[in-house]
Amino acid sequence: MDVVDPSTGTRIETYEEHTEGDVTEALDRATETFDDWRTRSVRDREQLLATAGEVLRDNKREYAETMTREMGKPITQAIAEVEKCAWVCDHYAEYASTYLDSDPHPSPPGSTVETEYEPLGPVLAVMPWNFPFWQVFRFAAPYLTAGNVGLLKHASNVPGCALAIEDVFREAGYPEGVFQSLLIPSDLVDDIIADDRVRGATLTGSGPAGRAVAATAGEHLKKTVLELGGSDPFIVLDDADIGSAAETGAWARNLNGGQSCIAAKRFIVHTDVYDDFLDAFVDEIDSFVVGDPMDEKTDIGPQARQDLMEELHEQVAESVDAGATVVTGGEPIDREGVFYPPTILTDIPEGCPVDSDETFGPVATVYEVADEDEAVSKANDTNFGLGASIWTENRDRGKRIASRIDAGCVYVNQLVKSDPRAPFGGVKDSGYGRELSEAGIKEFVNRKTVWVE
Ligand code: NDP
Repeated sequence: MDVVDPSTGTRIETYEEHTEGDVTEALDRATETFDDWRTRSVRDREQLLATAGEVLRDNKREYAETMTREMGKPITQAIAEVEKCAWVCDHYAEYASTYLDSDPHPSPPGSTVETEYEPLGPVLAVMPWNFPFWQVFRFAAPYLTAGNVGLLKHASNVPGCALAIEDVFREAGYPEGVFQSLLIPSDLVDDIIADDRVRGATLTGSGPAGRAVAATAGEHLKKTVLELGGSDPFIVLDDADIGSAAETGAWARNLNGGQSCIAAKRFIVHTDVYDDFLDAFVDEIDSFVVGDPMDEKTDIGPQARQDLMEELHEQVAESVDAGATVVTGGEPIDREGVFYPPTILTDIPEGCPVDSDETFGPVATVYEVADEDEAVSKANDTNFGLGASIWTENRDRGKRIASRIDAGCVYVNQLVKSDPRAPFGGVKDSGYGRELSEAGIKEFVNRKTVWVE
């Protein structure tokens, strides 16, 4: 596996792929370890998780640099990502026992009926490169603490991150086999899911990858959780605080170089504030520093891969051919590495690529709408349903509109974010199942009914 630094375009490391024999050994190890791991108390597993959080904090610079080198995330954002991983470890170290406590049910006199939550076994996680630590900890912290064991097939461009995460668990004192990284191409995934020892699969990534994993898992009756793409609306109403909406909106679109499933992608703005918002939004976007991701002053680094940037630019170019107007950006930056400028498009023709597909990079589309109803209808006019952000000074109005949006999460006067305390996931083509919070830890458990007469 060759790792290319996207800020220079040069190959910086080569990793040996694991063979099918290595995968078999890893599955054997996972199964053996599970037999013991599942018998440990949740308290025991919580303590190990708390130690994993400490390992993350102690080595945050090193882990952050691995991310930045492999996929180009600005270093300050990479450090924040490692800190967030430590936070999710703290969260489940504190709450896993409570979340997994048995639940009593109404029962006939003289009987007790309860649900107990037991682990399922080895779970395969197929993960993407965009938040190469966070996406992994988001599954590993809850699922391992519930007593499952994890196998990670990470994206092929971040093998160093995959091995570093394995090290976190090793250093924290986890038994070998509780968490293993497999450096394998995606065509080995089907066989792993089909293996009798594997009890479930979770994937974060594109729709096609999600469909492929779900199809195989369906054939073999394995549980799945899918966190796929999004085309999140960011609605600015006539009573919004325009300065805050523009500032937060600019970050909501461009954090991580715009390569986020929950980035704000479609800005839907009430006609009364459209000009004011657009002016403020352009100012914010034009103030971003694009450059070397290792420089702490950089806001936007390179895109993660050349092919993905080319796809993004094709979406922009086709949309402009169809009639969209470029307000700022719109052409790859002429320098070494894979750099795309923060871009704003207006006059978006219905059905053009930036209107109907996910744009995974720093490209914002801005729409002008006449009223609240048109805003809601435009927000829901997408196959995706991950998140949405609504801006209004009237909190009740915000809540009322939130209930009309088809999405897994809606934030009022805030950008969409994932937080260990709140369930996270989508509807429609954005996937199914929930990560984080109590909902997340209960995705890969046997909800066992125990009736005692
Ligand atoms: P993919 O969805 O292809 O990759 C995500 C993960 O899935 C990787 O580990 C990948 O492995 C694996 N994978 C890919 N195809 C299959 C398959 N058929 N069976 C099993 N596993 C598979 O994303 P890309 O990196 O190619 O990015 C393409 C687009 O996907 C982006 O432009 C963006 O729109 C979307 N995306 C969405 C993300 C999100 O957070 N929702 C994250 C990343 C991408 P390998 O790397 O070896 O191919």
